[in-house]
Amino acid sequence: MNATAESADWRKKYFDTLKSLEGEEQRFYAMEAALKRITGKLCIASLGQSPQLDIEIKKLQGALRGETTGEVLDAFMPTITAAINSLDDPVPTTAKASVIKSQTDFSREPIAGDERVRAILAALLAELKRDSELHKQVEKLDAKLAAPIIDTQLPEVLSTLTELVGQRIQHIEHAKREIEALLSQMVGKLDEISQFIVDQNQHQWQSKASSDSLNTHLTGEMKAMVESVESSQDLQQIRSQVRNRLDTIGKHLQEFQQRETMRGDAIQQRTEQMRTRMAELEAEANRLHDQLKDEQRLASIDVLTKIPNRMAYDRRIEEELQRWHRFAQPTCIAAWDIDYFKKINDTHGHRAGDRVLLTIAKCLAARIRTTDFLARYGGEEFVMILSGTKVVDAMKLIEEMRSAVADLQFHFRGALVSVTISCGITAFQEGDTAEAAFDRADKALYKAKDNGRNQAVGS
Ligand code: GH3
Ligand code: MG
Ligand code: MG
Repeated sequence: MNATAESADWRKKYFDTLKSLEGEEQRFYAMEAALKRITGKLCIASLGQSPQLDIEIKKLQGALRGETTGEVLDAFMPTITAAINSLDDPVPTTAKASVIKSQTDFSREPIAGDERVRAILAALLAELKRDSELHKQVEKLDAKLAAPIIDTQLPEVLSTLTELVGQRIQHIEHAKREIEALLSQMVGKLDEISQFIVDQNQHQWQSKASSDSLNTHLTGEMKAMVESVESSQDLQQIRSQVRNRLDTIGKHLQEFQQRETMRGDAIQQRTEQMRTRMAELEAEANRLHDQLKDEQRLASIDVLTKIPNRMAYDRRIEEELQRWHRFAQPTCIAAWDIDYFKKINDTHGHRAGDRVLLTIAKCLAARIRTTDFLARYGGEEFVMILSGTKVVDAMKLIEEMRSAVADLQFHFRGALVSVTISCGITAFQEGDTAEAAFDRADKALYKAKDNGRNQAVGS
């Protein structure tokens, strides 16, 4: 190849390379524009995670809009990385609320320890349900808690609860003030009645003084009359003197009668007034008694299952223990616990769980004898006191109840589900306290659980 041909060849190669470089450059610009667009979109999507990250993203967006170099963009790397890493750090509560709002995906996650939180809230709501004036609001909140609680709902739920607890305290304060007012009214009436008794004594004393004075007057007049009759000369004079004396006696008698009538009227009026006061007092005392009894009855009933609660059990077991000391009749305690109850809540929802609790409570309550006692001990646990029953006989009764529960069929959204229950039984023993007896029943219950559940174990 000669020099001219060689140079033409190099020129061609040079132009070809230039062309291909131009092509590469075009592709690079297209890719850069695409990357900028994608980064821009990612920036928009990432906004709202944290204020710090937002600032960095805004700076990056600014840089992407203009002409930038790789070095400028590289400079963003450390600050953006730090802002992203700090997303995992705990966020102060005030900042969290606004951040959570935009984290729609994360906020749908049930909060950690959901079941424990729910159990505490459920216990609190059960307490609040005792207040009839709050019933509707509590029901509304309860319905909200039927679904898993998510982070974003928690502040609202807690603030509603705080509000309700505040109202409950106000209602209790109000009831206390009402009772205080009623008691002070009653004390006022009692004072009035005791004053009446004092007055009555005084009246009696005055009445005696009045009849004593009449007596003195009459005796005086009679004496004077005898004397004047004895000293009188003629019949005319005697007649006139006797008439005068009789007139005076008549006046004394009239005065005495007037005095006594007035006193009698006043006494009758006061007695009538006191009778009304006594009737009012009796009605008020009855009202107070009924009100206190009602409060006591409500406080010892479990709101969900409507059977006695733990407080009622604590009172009853002490009475039964004393009775046992006196009469030494065999008495049994049975501790019940629904099997795998958590699974029912988890699979079919908390509402379904509540329905199971109510139905099982009814099933057990329908099978106890009038002398027996059934209470909801807490959560999905029940306790029974079987008085005058030996362990062997109690075992038979418990066995019937256990199998009645196992035969129950629950319909949950078309599915038929059965639930079982385990039981531990014990009898009062010499030297027992209520706690010691219950602990034995509870230990037997745990044996029943260990042995595979759906059974009763005696101790
Ligand atoms: P085990 O057979 O060992 O007794 O298992 P379990 O799942 O029954 O026992 P665990 O103690 O793990 O769960 C009891 C569950 O009962 C957890 C709690 O949330 C639930 N629970 C307690 N009170 C209520 C309530 O009033 N309503 C509902 N629906 N669930 C409740
Ligand atoms: Mg339990
Ligand atoms: Mg259980």
